[in-house]
Amino acid sequence: MSDSFQQAIHASLPLLKKIRKSLNPLPCASGTALEKLREIASARRPPAPTIREDAPPRREKNWTFDSLRKAVLACEKCPHLVRSRTQVVFGVGNPEAELMFVGEAPGADEDAQGEPFVGRAGQLLTKIIQAMGFQRSDVFIANVLKCRPDMPPGESGNRKPKPAEMNTCLPWLREQIDLIQPRAIVALGATAVEGLLGDTSPMHELRGRWLKFQGIPVMVTYHPAYLLRNQSVTEKRKVWEDMLLVLEKLEKKISAKQRAFFTKAGD
Ligand code: URA
Repeated sequence: MSDSFQQAIHASLPLLKKIRKSLNPLPCASGTALEKLREIASARRPPAPTIREDAPPRREKNWTFDSLRKAVLACEKCPHLVRSRTQVVFGVGNPEAELMFVGEAPGADEDAQGEPFVGRAGQLLTKIIQAMGFQRSDVFIANVLKCRPDMPPGESGNRKPKPAEMNTCLPWLREQIDLIQPRAIVALGATAVEGLLGDTSPMHELRGRWLKFQGIPVMVTYHPAYLLRNQSVTEKRKVWEDMLLVLEKLEKKISAKQRAFFTKAGD
């Protein structure tokens, strides 16, 4: 036993004896009851934080935008995705954008065209960007995963990227963000938030809140594909309110018409 441990025991003993004397009768509990108490205590403990907020950027190389693009397009870190992809989807837009949108992964249209968000969800995202007063070419659009997730043989459609795939690809997004240095990032949907920040909280808790990635404010909002499935004005308004917060963060002038979108006054 170390000296310091022995000293600590000697210092605590009188106090423990005093506590023992003051408890009359001494509490006693069966092994089963103790086990139950331990279970309750651990169930009440707040969940371990999962957010990778502000993890220090790991600079691998002094990239330029072009050298980064070349490296990403040639990436072979996920052999199964290399086999199934048509092409890597690097991202599109202004390399000096003040605003960046991050989705989860390319779908079939994006895999075919080599550009993110060009399918139905992408067309809705373009409308949102335009309603904010930007063009697609003003902002930068990218995904956490740069290759289309493969599907089991004979199955069509899309699947969610796996956490391991997103982790493998995340350094590319880190480098993109490092080079672009946007003033704000919009994370589109729960999978993008999970890939970017490691946070798996439900969307209704996350959206409308500012988080941070590499020191850059991140606004979480619903994925446009969710709005295509759920066409209610209430859900559209929620996304629009998130975008108004983004415009405020970017210190943009917001017109009365923009403020009123998806409200009775704006109908
Ligand atoms: N959904 C995404 O998350 N990204 C795309 O590029 C297209 C659809």
